[in-house]
Amino acid sequence: MPFHWSIHQLTEYLVRVSQPSEEAIAIRVALEEALDALNAELGIVVVEGELRAEVGFGRQDIPSEFLAPVRDNDEVELPGLGMAHLAQSDLDEAGTGRKGSKGRMVVARLGKELDAEELQLLHGMALALGLVLHNLETLRAERARHLLVVTLLAIQKAISARRPLDELLDAITEGAWELLDGCPVALLLNDPSSPGLLHPHSLERYPGFDDEAMANARSTLATNLSTFGQGDRAGDQQDRRFFCAPVVVSGETAGCLITKVDQPASGRHDQGELLTAFAQQVSLALTDARTVDAVRKASRDPITGLANRASFLQRLEHERQLALEGDAALTVLFVDLDRFKAVNDTLGHGAGDDLLAEVGARIKSCARTSDLVARLGGDEFAVALLNAGVKTGRAVAARIVRALGLPFVVSTREVLIGASVGIAGLAARHEDASAIVSDADIAMYRAKRSGRGRWTVFEPFMQAEVADKLSLATDLQRLATSGQVWLAYQPIVALASGRLEGAEALMRWSHPTRGPVPPSVFIPLAEETDAILELGAYAIARALEELATLNDGQKNLRLSLNISARQLLDGSLGQVMKQALVASHVSPELLILEITESLLIKDPDLARARLGSLKELGLSLAIDDFGTGYSSLKYLRQFPVDQVKVDRSFIAALRRDADDDIAIARSIIELCHRLRVETVAEGIETAEQLELLTELGCDLGQGYLFAAPMAPRDWARWQGARQPSLAAAG
Ligand code: C2E
Ligand code: MG
Ligand code: MG
Repeated sequence: MPFHWSIHQLTEYLVRVSQPSEEAIAIRVALEEALDALNAELGIVVVEGELRAEVGFGRQDIPSEFLAPVRDNDEVELPGLGMAHLAQSDLDEAGTGRKGSKGRMVVARLGKELDAEELQLLHGMALALGLVLHNLETLRAERARHLLVVTLLAIQKAISARRPLDELLDAITEGAWELLDGCPVALLLNDPSSPGLLHPHSLERYPGFDDEAMANARSTLATNLSTFGQGDRAGDQQDRRFFCAPVVVSGETAGCLITKVDQPASGRHDQGELLTAFAQQVSLALTDARTVDAVRKASRDPITGLANRASFLQRLEHERQLALEGDAALTVLFVDLDRFKAVNDTLGHGAGDDLLAEVGARIKSCARTSDLVARLGGDEFAVALLNAGVKTGRAVAARIVRALGLPFVVSTREVLIGASVGIAGLAARHEDASAIVSDADIAMYRAKRSGRGRWTVFEPFMQAEVADKLSLATDLQRLATSGQVWLAYQPIVALASGRLEGAEALMRWSHPTRGPVPPSVFIPLAEETDAILELGAYAIARALEELATLNDGQKNLRLSLNISARQLLDGSLGQVMKQALVASHVSPELLILEITESLLIKDPDLARARLGSLKELGLSLAIDDFGTGYSSLKYLRQFPVDQVKVDRSFIAALRRDADDDIAIARSIIELCHRLRVETVAEGIETAEQLELLTELGCDLGQGYLFAAPMAPRDWARWQGARQPSLAAAG
């Protein structure tokens, strides 16, 4: 057989073998062509120890001689065929370093031996197949790498798009499953709620792990998790059926991605590497989800789910800059609940939290979805209306006041709370977001003072008021010893007889630069700090001291003293009182302490205890401004009350033709008498009011009709001027 013929034959052979894109076909073509060229009848191809093709007999009937190493022209007796000569060639050239697949081609020819040239041809053909197989392998690896890159990119895109975590984990597991040629893949994650227990994710979708395999894998994982390195293998080490790649989150093993391969690893696929790449994606997805979760938690109010103060201010600052750049409007509403504290105190914090959540939802429903709604803390909420001016602000505020004015149901009870709203539109003076919020806050404060359930738009003069209040508050410190405060006294008269019965001490502040500051301004301010304690103690001592002056000419004048809530609850009041009584020699029976109902509501038990010990000193107790609070009547029975001062608002309404108002005054007076409580009418200004109150049986009265509060030095003059008229009346 001429040599050139075999070169030509070899070239054609190479072309034909390299045409198929599938390994199995290439191998089969190579073997058939080889047998044809060598006039041989039988042959096999083994690659990586695996029988890949056979010609001339069935898979089961291959004689053992074919499978063991063969020397040239070894003889073999084939049943039914006769004697055949064997020859083989490796698919790679061992020792030459040339690339090729590990394997061999074995042929058998009946009868005639293979000559040297034929053996040479077999060798060339086997090498050609080895080369083709190597190229196909490279191509496949290249394709797999490409597919891996495409899949990983898609997953990373999904992670950065913040798809739901479950969806991401499914996509990753599915990607691994596809790239592992359909070998079952499962993601096992440490269940944070029960550490140590592994939670199979997406197992249902990629079945293939039987219970036993899973249990086996799980126990192997549970014991080895912390020590796994990259691409480590777990499971049955002998046939290496399980591959496992750890999922690491913040340096800790959070679980693993596991696959089961049906046959022993051939080394053709690097499952370990592949699985590790996917496990890293799981790590990424989990880390990202945790970060997002942490960020969300840090910026949300846990009770309402709304933005918290910090994140609201941050967003608002961003919107402020956008609005300035685009010359757009921006309006902030500051919402403060009117009676939240009462609910929280009486129904408990759980109920309070439920209420706040519902309040948040209602406020949200009053704004557009693009607006920012936040809980600033406590019972304060804020809404930023984007691209909206103060006009819209008013409309939304009205909606909010209406929505929060409707009853809420908490702990199966219906409660009414209501809200006050301050409105501030973005202005040039606002240097940052908090400046707008602060203006809205000031407006809210004003809305609240003008009566609850209202809204007010901020105006610059309000800022001045606040600054004023601040400077007043500073002046209030050590005011008691400044010589700027003094007491005015207003006469209290028995209505039926016109007799002077007593005096109410009312504090006055003559400010060196501002002039007189009304008590309605400085008393509430002093009540916000401990300044009231000092001022109150001063008033008590001073009034008892001055009572002697007032008493001149009239014995046993009673003295009414106003006591603030903070003073009573502080606990030092009894001591202050005792000291003043001792120093002034005033009989305690002459003293009446006036307190307001709000005090009794705030802490009834403590109030009752404090009032009890004061009464033991022999003092009397009056409820001031009666009728302006909540459930006045209830407190009349619960507390040791001796006197009720009917609020000025009831008295002001009294006229002969005002039947309803007369009826109200009558029922209050009658009820008090039934409970043996003395009645005092505050703010009597007209003779008609005096007449009506006398008819209704009211015991005592005070008001401008008799006298405005006056300094002690004016008292005697007033009394002197009064005597003739008294005498005339008498
Ligand atoms: P109050 O105890 O209800 O005092 C009665 C208020 O009504 C006084 O106001 C008095 O000047 C005013 N008034 C009296 N007659 C009439 C009238 O015919 N018409 C009108 N329109 N008003 C009348 P004032 O002195 O401004 O005191 C306001 C409030 O400040 C007091 O209300 C009291 O709650 C509080 N206050 C005054 N002095 C003290 C004090 O020494 N300690 C405490 N804790 N509070 C005080
Ligand atoms: Mg009073
Ligand atoms: Mg009063």
